[in-house]
Amino acid sequence: MLDLSMIIGDQTVAGTTTFDILNPATGELVGKAPNATEDDLERAVAAAKAAFPRWAALPDAERKAICGKLAGQLEQDAESIARVLTMEQGKPLGGMGSRFELGGAQAWAGYTASLDIPVKVLQDDNEGRVELHRKPIGVVGSITPWNWPVMIAVWHILPALRAGNTVVIKPSPFTPLSTLLAVKAMCEVLPAGVLNVVTSDDTLFNVGAAMSAHPDIRKIVFTGSCGTGEKVMRSAAPTMKRLTLELGGNDAGIVLPDCDPEAIAEGLFWGAFINNGQTCAAMKRLYVHDSIHDAVCDALVAYSRNVKVGNGLDETVHLGPINNKKQFDKVRALVASAGKEGNVLIGGAPDEGLFYPVTLISELDDQSPLVTEEQFGPALPIIRYTDVEEAIAQANDSTNGLGGSVWSRDIEAAKRIALRMECGSVWINKHGAIQPNAPFGGVKRSGIGVEFGEEGLFENTDIQVVFQ
Ligand code: NAD
Repeated sequence: MLDLSMIIGDQTVAGTTTFDILNPATGELVGKAPNATEDDLERAVAAAKAAFPRWAALPDAERKAICGKLAGQLEQDAESIARVLTMEQGKPLGGMGSRFELGGAQAWAGYTASLDIPVKVLQDDNEGRVELHRKPIGVVGSITPWNWPVMIAVWHILPALRAGNTVVIKPSPFTPLSTLLAVKAMCEVLPAGVLNVVTSDDTLFNVGAAMSAHPDIRKIVFTGSCGTGEKVMRSAAPTMKRLTLELGGNDAGIVLPDCDPEAIAEGLFWGAFINNGQTCAAMKRLYVHDSIHDAVCDALVAYSRNVKVGNGLDETVHLGPINNKKQFDKVRALVASAGKEGNVLIGGAPDEGLFYPVTLISELDDQSPLVTEEQFGPALPIIRYTDVEEAIAQANDSTNGLGGSVWSRDIEAAKRIALRMECGSVWINKHGAIQPNAPFGGVKRSGIGVEFGEEGLFENTDIQVVFQ
């Protein structure tokens, strides 16, 4: 059993009390994490604040070189972190599971560390010179969810540090152990106080809420649900914090009539079911043209039959359990109500424990809660359409706007539709593919700001213009 500590300044802090992290596949105890007190959070923020002036003042090349070591630190411990991630999160070790996540974390760390923050010259003539500088903001608070905890931690930490900020990170109560290990590995090459981690099950006090309101935290980068994102925004208002909010999605996929159902089945499946559907930008509603609707359903059912659900430590498994009971109950309730209205093609009823079978439900009304709400689990509603205008309108009839996709052999036709979709990322003949140099973020209630690439890095800076 793992018994891990927080890292605050130059100290490892065991915490006065701890909380248990259970394996969603077995219900067994994976480990214990410290339950931070208000005092622990104060010390973490103070450590980050104290470390900020030196870190921000380092010559840029020096800071870049230190950040450049972080991917290697993660690589060193990748396999052991991946195993812990599988045990606390549930995802398989192989496939698009924990090793894939650790690989992604390294790729993002390496790329982000390599970015530059040049001074932009806006004017340089006889009238004068005007320069745009990007300066670090101060202490950045990072609050992460339980679905891709290590990768998202890196998405928050690396750009903040690269830009010269210091960080306090608070992982989800469901998946703190892999983050504690990843932060420990990174702290080995960082000056004390530059990166701090506090863990909590939100029972002693709500650490995320306290961070969002804390006067010495100058920016919050938050990934999680829309409801909590809204709370973060409210708490952050009095201190006018900078915010990057990466929130929920209800991504639509639109399949045009010219598709070959068999050829797209695998892409559709993984677009929806990656990480058991517990992915912000997974496809969560699928609109299929009437002429190929039944064939697409058949191809998806056939593909689903070969997908093995089980304990992620078993290397033959493709999908693990749902991560936690609250999420499991949400999926169960949405599927139960959809099952009464629609046609359950496969799955439907929960398995033992937190395991849930791959579930496909067709013939649903576009107002069914499984269609209008973010299910965040292994259940995909399939909606029949006859007029593509109707499908586009339904896809856009959502308060969310994270991702979307269009499937067709005619790339130009697909692109014309893609550009009409109200979402931050849109894919053609795939769904959910992201990369470190392409900005990622949501429109509407799916969030504010972007991560990745130069644009994501710059969100960790304040602009100062120098007129001379
Ligand atoms: P959540 O909102 O329940 O929790 C996220 C984090 O917020 C946790 O660390 C939690 O402890 C903390 N928190 C709880 N109360 C808080 C408060 N009052 N103030 C500040 N922080 C608080 O989300 P979750 O269930 O962990 O994650 C699933 C959600 O995250 C889904 O909606 C998913 O779509 C979204 N998500 C979005 C992205 C993206 O990039 N847009 C990526 C992954 C997940």
